Amino acid sequence: MKIMSINAGSSSLKFSLFNMDTDEVLASGLFERIGIDGSCYTIKNSEFKIKEEVELKDHSDAVKILLDKLIELKIISSYDEIDGVGHRIVHGGDKYTKSVVVTDEVVDDIIKFSDFAPLHNPAHAICIKAFREVLPNTPMVTVFDTAFHQTMEKYNYLYAVPYEWYEKYNVRKYGAHGTSHKYIAKKISEVLGRDDLRIISCHLGQGGSITAIKDGKCIDTTMGFTPLAGIVMGTRSGDIDPSIIPYVMEKAGMSAGEVVTALNKKSGLLGISGVSSDSRDIEEGIKEGNERCRLAQDMFIDSVVRFIGEYYLELGGCDVITFTAGIGENSSATRKEIIDKLAVLGIKIDEEANKTRGEVAKISADDSTSLVYVVPTNEELMIAMETRDLIK
Ligand code: ADP
Repeated sequence: MKIMSINAGSSSLKFSLFNMDTDEVLASGLFERIGIDGSCYTIKNSEFKIKEEVELKDHSDAVKILLDKLIELKIISSYDEIDGVGHRIVHGGDKYTKSVVVTDEVVDDIIKFSDFAPLHNPAHAICIKAFREVLPNTPMVTVFDTAFHQTMEKYNYLYAVPYEWYEKYNVRKYGAHGTSHKYIAKKISEVLGRDDLRIISCHLGQGGSITAIKDGKCIDTTMGFTPLAGIVMGTRSGDIDPSIIPYVMEKAGMSAGEVVTALNKKSGLLGISGVSSDSRDIEEGIKEGNERCRLAQDMFIDSVVRFIGEYYLELGGCDVITFTAGIGENSSATRKEIIDKLAVLGIKIDEEANKTRGEVAKISADDSTSLVYVVPTNEELMIAMETRDLIK
């Protein structure tokens, strides 16, 4: 069975084609600058990589060229060989608690929820329409990044604001990275051979979120109404006092939109260090004695540790802490700094095991009270698995 997993933006389309019998990636790639001058695509697998400039007027062009190239490269012999297509959707509102087979109603809802994800949802809808045009008989599934978090209790997903904001405007916590957290929970349950786990899943990348998971279900998560909330991120502030917004608007003569853009794009590691949003540059800066890089890292670590502490209590203890995404999978220094701050809970690192990168590995010491694991995430495979399970 061959399933294609799609992640579309307004001018891009990222794909992975899986052989679901082996979980092997047959090909993956990216179509960029769709509808903009200088559009191009990359298609690769373990044996080849091609990059070509080509005119891409819209997403339909990209889909057709993608499928024709896969035939030309003999990865598939015809369009019919694609058994299903899974689309990553950033926001499913509070309606979609799990992945669903695509219908006209689903596409309309994705457009309806654009208020919550104005940059992403409209692009997802356009891309689904393009795929349905080119592959009218192929079953398609939407996998929502918010769905996994829909098991939160009301007291965890509501903000203590006037209740009618929730009733009238759907102001509540939705969370994000749900597909990644769900994959991690599934993977660590397989590794440990049990489902009854209290997991604190730390997805630490350019964007980052931490999720408390009990028996495979999300109990709480750090991202909120939007991905701006929670821990300090590459360019996002994480939680702040909202009174800062009107204050800075007045002082700096900025609009609300400009302040929110600064909180999303110029804050976090970048805002504090003044150097970079990339944790590798921050680590380099720290080695060179840059104090603001050290400060940015301290603030990042502190925000992560604070939520681990909160979720430890919310879960009534913790069986396993997992680290994933760019920083979580690769930065042993950051993992060590975080775990060292958990000593009061009896959580201890195995420094030798912590040297691991890019593979599932236990990095806690044998006498640690909670297990700590590195688990590489694979959102594309998770999307393909959900698609397979629904179209079977
Ligand atoms: P995104 O949220 O865009 O998917 P990623 O999960 O790719 O982000 O994570 C990007 C982050 O991971 C960057 O801050 C980058 O510096 C960090 N990262 C990647 N590789 C390493 C590494 N070897 N050491 C430290 N940090 C790393």
